[in-house]
Amino acid sequence: MLHERFNEAKFIIDTLNENGYEGYFVGGAVRDFLLGLPIKDVDIATNAKPEQVMKLFPHSVPVGIEHGTVLVLGNNQSFEVTTYRIEDDYEDYRHPNYVEFVDDITLDLSRRDFTINAMAMDINGEIIDPFHGKDDLKLKQIKTVGSATERFLEDPLRMLRGLRFTSQLDFELKQNVKDAISQNHHLLEKISIERITEEFIKIFKGRAIKRALLNIEETKVYLSLPILKESDKYFVTLLNKKIEPIDDPSLLFAFLHLIEPNVTIQQWAKSYKLSNAIKKGAIHLINQYHLYKQRGISNTLIYQIGREWLHLFAKLVLLVDETNINLNQLIKKYEILPIKERSQLVITGNDLIMWNENKKRGEWVGNILRKIEMMVVENEIRNDYTEIKKMVKQWMIQEKN
Ligand code: ATP
Ligand code: MG
Repeated sequence: MLHERFNEAKFIIDTLNENGYEGYFVGGAVRDFLLGLPIKDVDIATNAKPEQVMKLFPHSVPVGIEHGTVLVLGNNQSFEVTTYRIEDDYEDYRHPNYVEFVDDITLDLSRRDFTINAMAMDINGEIIDPFHGKDDLKLKQIKTVGSATERFLEDPLRMLRGLRFTSQLDFELKQNVKDAISQNHHLLEKISIERITEEFIKIFKGRAIKRALLNIEETKVYLSLPILKESDKYFVTLLNKKIEPIDDPSLLFAFLHLIEPNVTIQQWAKSYKLSNAIKKGAIHLINQYHLYKQRGISNTLIYQIGREWLHLFAKLVLLVDETNINLNQLIKKYEILPIKERSQLVITGNDLIMWNENKKRGEWVGNILRKIEMMVVENEIRNDYTEIKKMVKQWMIQEKN
């Protein structure tokens, strides 16, 4: 019996077989299945050419046809179906200069980075494992397919991928892999920052983040990473922290800024080409962290953080200060806030203008609204139309005198 995730993709291999082609499950899915880990994307390799795959599957999208990849839709998912290929001449360190389609699965497996990623599985659950990836799974080691140095010269990103897998799987780099990384990490400077950032974020997400950081120290990879390379001190600070897996990129970069405030979040965002969403999230967390340091946990703080950010905020305080904030208590406090957002206030700016007929419209409207909002949040006044109106009228009288 195939695992459910593979069963959902089996129709693709069945169709390929019925039409005289081979098809195998490959890569991370096979690895994670053998490890008993949750399976992410199920990828398929085939000797059918991309055009043939497109013909066999009307519901498909040519996402990277020049590299042999067609996205096949079915069972409410999409599956990458890639023609067996080998790559050559990574001249620009980004994309292989040319891709050659081949008709042997073993050749396709040989172009893959690590032995544990270079296994295929057929629809009967038989594993094809020409590079003994299964042995390395048992040994919990990251070993390249062939010479580590050669494979890293072809595509230097593999060095970061290797470190990422040590974190994700809690595996160790084989000594020759470590040595090759020590000698070649400077080549990372040739890799597009988007690819680096993606791996960087995944490294911190992994359960063995500490192990990965120790490997990064040992191999000195940080000397080839933006910002961290600027001063040994930055990486030492990080290494001295009691680190935990960080599963959100905004949280990660907020943390990196707060432990080394000399580097602004804008600098992190620029150097790692962060998306606006990640940057905005990081800034939000940083601002709330500062408010928390000034005034502790108040209704205003919890209100401003917002329900969906509370867990990230608690995690940030844990990471930066190594203090535990009880998330459940934060959530409880949030639940009993008198209002959750400004729109729940019983009055609006229009009411303020109405009550202050003689006053010209201006900034004061927003300021007073904000003041009332915070008073309601802090339970200094009830969210009640008459009470608020009475208070505002009193302010007006005081202002006149
Ligand atoms: P995960 O999906 O858990 O992040 P993965 O192993 O599936 O890990 P992907 O980036 O999805 O990683 O790549 C799928 C497969 O493609 C890998 O398992 C590996 O066989 C191959 N691969 C990916 N990137 C490279 C690379 N830079 N060099 C060689 N092979 C690679
Ligand atoms: Mg994958």
